[in-house]
Amino acid sequence: MEARARCWARTNGRLVKVEEEVVDMEVTILSEDNSDAIRCLIVQKDVQKKARFRNKCHQEAALVLLPNEMKVMVVRDVSARDVAALAGTCKALREFVTQTFVPSVILPLSEEVQARLAGRAVLALTSTVQLAVWRRGGYMAMVTRVNLKEMKRLRFGGPNFRTEQGLLCLPEQYLQALEHFVALGSHLEAVDILVDNSPRLLGLLRAIAAFPRLQEVTLRSSGNMGRTLAAARTGVTVNSLLAQILANTNIKKLTLKGFEVAWDGEDTDGEDAGDQRYERYRLDIASPSLETLRVEFSKTFVLGRVEAACLREVEVSSSYWGFCLFHADQVDEEGMGLGGMGGRAPALARGCPALQRFNDLDLGQLREEGRGDWLGQLERYKGRGCDMEKEEGAQGSCHMCRNTEDWASQAAGSSEGFQ
Ligand SMILES: [Zn+2]
Repeated sequence: MEARARCWARTNGRLVKVEEEVVDMEVTILSEDNSDAIRCLIVQKDVQKKARFRNKCHQEAALVLLPNEMKVMVVRDVSARDVAALAGTCKALREFVTQTFVPSVILPLSEEVQARLAGRAVLALTSTVQLAVWRRGGYMAMVTRVNLKEMKRLRFGGPNFRTEQGLLCLPEQYLQALEHFVALGSHLEAVDILVDNSPRLLGLLRAIAAFPRLQEVTLRSSGNMGRTLAAARTGVTVNSLLAQILANTNIKKLTLKGFEVAWDGEDTDGEDAGDQRYERYRLDIASPSLETLRVEFSKTFVLGRVEAACLREVEVSSSYWGFCLFHADQVDEEGMGLGGMGGRAPALARGCPALQRFNDLDLGQLREEGRGDWLGQLERYKGRGCDMEKEEGAQGSCHMCRNTEDWASQAAGSSEGFQ
């Protein structure tokens, strides 16, 4: 395994950031005592210290005069960023915030740094390491020592998909830790997690959807691993996960990453039995509160029904062929060569009346030009709003725009030949 670790080193008295190759990582992971491997992973060298001021400040502000228990209740209702801002307003609040909270922790922590947390509540937790490095129960033992009762932001990812009996899934270790985070996460405003199609994960999303302050959700599927390894058929579909989480009508931002293949054949628009993992899957998104949608998927997916009255921004990035908004989601295979309007733009125009931006395309401007109807203007903007970066040497990033240009020039060439 090739791995690089970033750390700070002192050269001629100055601190410089260096990248260091972790050579024997795999060997240490496999050995019985993997504390060396864990030490390689330790990313956070210290946590914010408690501030204590010798000269007490004499604030008259109502917030400062509240007892600490009441201040904690106030802090629950503001974002993690605002808590940091609060700490910057005066000495008294800085003392209260730093004595009570630690703004952010990136796991794993060394024993020494864990001790420095001193029971303070962590507001943002990040863990993107491979859990298999710990021996049974080791990761949970570390996690349960961290006070997560006031946690506002959770990012729990990393290379943690596994195969069990040849089928791709999230391992017990991951699900168990996620259950722990969710049990303590009732104040969460942002969640970024891995998802599989197990009924257990669906149950966890149901619990997450009940959090009243939740505004941002990122779901990460198995990415490239999903292309080669099948998942168990459980009846849990991508759409059932989405419906479950979007039952929370406070969510403003949804990000989907690594959706390379749909797990089940259900809900596909192809009737053919064949290998259903490669049928096109319609992603349905319905939310009255959603404002921003980011989707990273493959050619296996198309945007299906999108009903989101407040949706203002959509970013779609595809990992296969790139298409502009005009041509995107040509569901009808018969029409693939025709280069007409695909299904994506009409679906968005129908279900998202407030849409202002699709990738690089300013739909607000198109709406003005079309006196409220941006869809009617879209043909003039062929090639824009593309869901893929331009390939090197290619003329444009839309596969269909490129092909239709080629046909036009071929047709022009052959008619010249007849003259
Ligand atoms: Zn195009």
